[in-house]
Amino acid sequence: MTDSNELIRLSAAALAAKLAAGDVTSVQVTQAYLDRIAAVDGQVNAFLHVNGEEALAVAAEVDAIRAAGGAAAEELHELAGVPIAVKDLIVTIGQPTTAGSKILEGWHSPYDATVIKKLRAAKMPILGKTNLDEFAMGSSTEHSAYGPTRNPWDLERIPGGSGGGSAAAVAAFEAPLALGTDTGGSIRQPGAVTGTVGVKPTYGAVSRYGAIAMASSLDQIGPVSRTVLDSALLQEVIGGHDPQDSTSLTDPFDNLVAAARTGNVEGMKIGIIKELHGEGYQAGVENRFNESLELLKDAGAEIVEVSCPNFKYALGAYYLIMPSEVSSNLAKFDGVRFGLRVLPKEGPMTIERVMGATRAAGFGDEVKRRIILGTYALSAGYYDAYYGSAQKVRTLIQRDFDAAFAQADVLISPTAPTTAFKLGEKLNDPLAMYLNDVATIPANMAGVPGLSLPGGLADEDGLPVGIQLLAPAREDARLYRVGAVLESLLEEKWGGPLLDRAPELHALDAANTVGGSN
Ligand code: GLN
Repeated sequence: MTDSNELIRLSAAALAAKLAAGDVTSVQVTQAYLDRIAAVDGQVNAFLHVNGEEALAVAAEVDAIRAAGGAAAEELHELAGVPIAVKDLIVTIGQPTTAGSKILEGWHSPYDATVIKKLRAAKMPILGKTNLDEFAMGSSTEHSAYGPTRNPWDLERIPGGSGGGSAAAVAAFEAPLALGTDTGGSIRQPGAVTGTVGVKPTYGAVSRYGAIAMASSLDQIGPVSRTVLDSALLQEVIGGHDPQDSTSLTDPFDNLVAAARTGNVEGMKIGIIKELHGEGYQAGVENRFNESLELLKDAGAEIVEVSCPNFKYALGAYYLIMPSEVSSNLAKFDGVRFGLRVLPKEGPMTIERVMGATRAAGFGDEVKRRIILGTYALSAGYYDAYYGSAQKVRTLIQRDFDAAFAQADVLISPTAPTTAFKLGEKLNDPLAMYLNDVATIPANMAGVPGLSLPGGLADEDGLPVGIQLLAPAREDARLYRVGAVLESLLEEKWGGPLLDRAPELHALDAANTVGGSN
């Protein structure tokens, strides 16, 4: 029997193998994670809701099917019985969905998102819902109405955002897998600063049905994990065509796990994006980036340099297109249809005034800032100057990608310009906060897939650095193929997974033992 402290450290693939071999039961695995959450989440605050009873019931069901054997046991999905956490932007029956906002406090969805239906079909116990910046707007999870999540590497630092809860849960061994959403980097940047893996699939590869919309033309659901193979396994569970999402692709995306298992970069051209490193990037980030390039070169890849001159406008264009879509998508939170309703303190009780009072009390400052920005950008007199120009820039960014992919099979950059910053450091400086996403936003603007994996620790502060890989649309398999190679080369160099070197995690482990849940 593996003890529960070892169990929670296994990758999802290793857990799946142990479950299939009958070495452990899903109830044991699920309980080990629930115990870990009980012991450390008071410090990390990765979860907004823990779904223990239902998760254990699903686990028991998987165990019963396995114990009975026969056709039903054989038909179980490879990840059956492997637990998962879900970003609280994705709607679920039986658990609250808050989007990190007061305006949805206490709201329960009457339906499941498509990805949730797929997790249920694969019989993966859902451990609970994870914290996020309100409506996924932010890079630090400090904009959650329910308090910030803390980075398990250093509890005084941010875990990235908006999906800081999912990344921190996986980094702190509170879940082996999680779902995130990525509109401008919210899966990849939290992955980078917590030493975990995060993937934004090709736009349309995973159904968005049931992901509360932030900016629909940019949003994408994707996997969060501790290994590249685990993300591939999860993307195959959640991906595939969905008629309920009009932008869903019909490609099967069923070659991802095979790509991760047979990783090989020999003869591949890997393009360094000139505009996405160097000036403005922390020295330790740059050093780890260069080290990864050397490793890939030694493994037989050809490193080339590409230029994407329009990427310098990506952040500016994103902060026009995204808020424009936000202002439209968030209009439905009107105090009538969902969640919170606040009545005006005095004066006439008109619908407009109830709506105003509800939105004033229910939305936080960052959400209001973006609604105002978007409403302004879309207003009649300014539409062409702002939204129209931003759409043109978007086309130029897509063309830059096309030109770059004519020269390279995969592109590479640091995921974020810096390591995790301190809580509160950028909270009152929106522009500094927005700059975290310079390297991740272009992929959303063009719909191409991106993967972030741990690239080591920065020399200055000993904190994780993320390496980002980008591939052409529909070529998600390439990310897993190259990602798996780079991951194994790096782990060989470090002598094990990066998360083994997290000092704060060891402090959390001590708390886990003292907490005495077993
Ligand atoms: N940090 C970016 C923003 O604040 C990205 C958010 C996201 O990907 N959901 O918009």
